[in-house]
Amino acid sequence: MAGRIVLSLFATGFAYAAAALSPAHVNRDLRSFLSSSAVIDGYNATAYARWSNFDAPHPGVVISPGSEQDVATIVSYCTSNKIPFLTQSGAHGWANTFQLNESGILINIKSLDSVVFNANKTEVTVGGGVAISDVISAGSKAGALVQTGNCNCVGALGAILGGGYGNLLGLVGFGVDNLLSVNLVLANGTLANITPKDKDLWWALRGAGPNFGIVTSAKVKSYPVSSSGQTAWFGQLVYSGSKVEEVVQTIQNTTLKPKMSEGRAAFMAFLELGPSQDTTTELQYPHWNDGAASFCEKGGYKPSYSVGLANMHPTTWRQVWNEYVSWVSINGTGNSIILMEAYSLEKARSFAPSSSSFAWRNDVNFNAVVIPWYYDTRLGSKAQSWGRKVRNMWRETDDLAAPASYVNFAHGDETLHTVYGDNVSRLKKVKKEIDPNSVFNQWFEI
Ligand SMILES: Cc1cc2nc3c(=O)[nH]c(=O)nc-3n(C[C@H](O)[C@H](O)[C@H](O)COP(=O)(O)OP(=O)(O)OC[C@H]3O[C@@H](n4cnc5c(N)ncnc54)[C@H](O)[C@@H]3O)c2cc1C
Repeated sequence: MAGRIVLSLFATGFAYAAAALSPAHVNRDLRSFLSSSAVIDGYNATAYARWSNFDAPHPGVVISPGSEQDVATIVSYCTSNKIPFLTQSGAHGWANTFQLNESGILINIKSLDSVVFNANKTEVTVGGGVAISDVISAGSKAGALVQTGNCNCVGALGAILGGGYGNLLGLVGFGVDNLLSVNLVLANGTLANITPKDKDLWWALRGAGPNFGIVTSAKVKSYPVSSSGQTAWFGQLVYSGSKVEEVVQTIQNTTLKPKMSEGRAAFMAFLELGPSQDTTTELQYPHWNDGAASFCEKGGYKPSYSVGLANMHPTTWRQVWNEYVSWVSINGTGNSIILMEAYSLEKARSFAPSSSSFAWRNDVNFNAVVIPWYYDTRLGSKAQSWGRKVRNMWRETDDLAAPASYVNFAHGDETLHTVYGDNVSRLKKVKKEIDPNSVFNQWFEI
């Protein structure tokens, strides 16, 4: 391991707030208002497993809605009875901003998982809880590409509402650039169709979405392709630790183009560095995310930290590498990951930074993430200080005017400016109007 770099409705009058909730209570109050396929359940850490158990929510009750309207009914019930709640979709959010305990309800929207393309395949309507794998598999069958993230297990909208980095970024921009409209359950418990005509809310949703409501479905752009258009060049180049500086410098020197269509030729500079392993090959659309499958493994503790970078500095990455080698020598830390993502950003930067609340569009060229991954809780405080140490190393040479983190990769201890950039004051204004009591308060609350 150490030697490789791998590239209302009804206020019940019951004082629920702060008291532990039971499924029986909620069932009695709510059941008759929900559709027949909705499920009210107790919390079960296996059935509702999260990607990381670090600072994970532990609700008293889990409700799986049977319809979009059910979500509105659940939100009304929660707000009328002052019950804290949290939406869970793919369960990959790793931030420490969740505060849900036994007095709260988890709205598990995984059941809203439909994927429907329009006749000419230029638009797809996806359920609010759909997984990336569902979108890709339906897209491949329909003959259309959709901008989603690079790991099949993640909630497609969880990723898109924070920005949405993914394989098609170079061609079509971020996830937020490809949203056409959403059905949104608002803080007042109504279900509304939100479109670009809803200027401020539309802007705020695309970058800070979870603060403004629950997206129960979304219309997203899709791109019809022939079967040859579903082919792309993928794989791993593995290098020995002695090549850290060369690899990093080569990444820094490479201008990623929207289409690196020549595959091996376009990445020749990396091949010339002499990887010890090269698994690159052409893959069809349903397999593009196969290489990231092990990253999807649920469970364990993964207190992750991330920074945006303008530049990659070989000396910094050598220090980070040495830190990594030392960290993974501790028993039980071997799955830990240092990740860096680089995309072609030309297309994404053809959209004005002010077009959405997604921050740092024109500033960040690379996202670096450190994921101390362990199973023994006794390693917790060491893991967090190691994660912060590596983050500081990167920040010191980020070449940015202010620290930046992609909201969906951030830890939760950053300032609002670090995750929302210069959008904080406008976001606060929209928040005051749309969710004045901040009932949607579990994800980098504004
Ligand atoms: C293995 C892995 C791979 C990743 N790959 C990528 C990637 O390729 N690209 C990328 O951009 N990001 C990626 N991420 C980051 C990812 O975007 C965030 O973790 C995201 O928040 C996960 O969404 P989720 O639905 O899976 O998680 P959840 O924990 O269910 O949701 C995260 C937050 O979003 C809210 N939320 C989710 N769905 C909705 C909705 N429909 N309406 C309103 N709020 C909602 C939740 O309430 C919660 O606050 C990855 C993360 C992991 C762990």
